[in-house]
Amino acid sequence: MDDFVRPVRSLARHTPCDSIVALGRSLAEDFAHDPRAMATMFCVHCNRERPVEEFSWADGQAVGS
Ligand SMILES: [Zn+2]
Repeated sequence: MDDFVRPVRSLARHTPCDSIVALGRSLAEDFAHDPRAMATMFCVHCNRERPVEEFSWADGQAVGS
């Protein structure tokens, strides 16, 4: 049904604290299939869940867009 293979992005930057967050493969695939699937991501540096709007992918694209 969906033959288009999208690259799975697994590194995101939490913009407010400027740290890189590594997503587990399953979580990264969830985002690849449905970017709006999750409202928050865990930032290790902040040690708390933060809204995905505060994150951008390593390639500069906003998470959830
Ligand atoms: Zn952070």
